[in-house]
Amino acid sequence: MLVSINEILGHAKEGGYGIPAVSAGNEIYLRAAIEEAEKANSPLIILVGYYFTDAVNYYSRLIEDFSKAASVPVTAMWDHSSDFKQSLRGIRAGLPSIMVDRSSLPYEQNAAQVAEMVRIAHAVDVGVEAEIGHVGGADENMDAADSDNALTRPAEAVQFVKDTDCDCLAVAIGTAHGVYKGTPKLHFDLLKELAGKVPVPLVLHGGSGTGDENISKACQMGICKVNVANELMAASYNALQEAGMEGNKVYQFWPVIEKGYRKHVAHLFDVCGCAGKAWQAKQMFTAKFMK
Ligand SMILES: [Zn+2]
Repeated sequence: MLVSINEILGHAKEGGYGIPAVSAGNEIYLRAAIEEAEKANSPLIILVGYYFTDAVNYYSRLIEDFSKAASVPVTAMWDHSSDFKQSLRGIRAGLPSIMVDRSSLPYEQNAAQVAEMVRIAHAVDVGVEAEIGHVGGADENMDAADSDNALTRPAEAVQFVKDTDCDCLAVAIGTAHGVYKGTPKLHFDLLKELAGKVPVPLVLHGGSGTGDENISKACQMGICKVNVANELMAASYNALQEAGMEGNKVYQFWPVIEKGYRKHVAHLFDVCGCAGKAWQAKQMFTAKFMK
């Protein structure tokens, strides 16, 4: 079933679990992720990256068809659109939600640009994730003081949701995108405060390498969506290395990549606590009269 980001995250917030938002940039990954969600009877979020060309206009049709055919609730998001044009491209592609990431801008600009895009997106039933505080890249080499400065401030987060009307909010509580140089330290006290104060579902970026225990705990404490990309790509790569690709084994290139990806997606449902949490959803984007 294809559902909205509000519906899928609403259930997660109420049920006290998280849902992995998995990077799935091609048909093989898309099919594998959905099949694993069906096996686990879990809801699923598909992420499509900003690195896409206009091919996303075609790919989004696949996502829509596969999601509608799935026996479990599935939604998709245009991840990390960082300017007006990129955000609109996600809407134009027909994806049910977009992330409008202006978190590297000062508060006023971030809020103003997100509010503008929310107004546009909501007019055509597209959900919006925004970010306050800033989840940087692990390779940005932030020292401890810098990364603490980038953490989400609870009062600001509450004001931001009021100012923008976004549907869900990515927060910075100590994770980073990509591969960590050291051991990540999550600020659970901050998460507790955010979960108590912010009215919309919370999102964790930089799920890769954060550690199963940290992710599970974060999901139990109010994180509803966990973005994972790097770990999934690494799982594919490792599977390739283990299998070896010499000689005729190379014909198994894609099946091996898929196997590695699949295994890790299945693992994420257990870590996030959403295995078995699928519900009987109503299909989104069925023909209806415009209001
Ligand atoms: Zn991210």
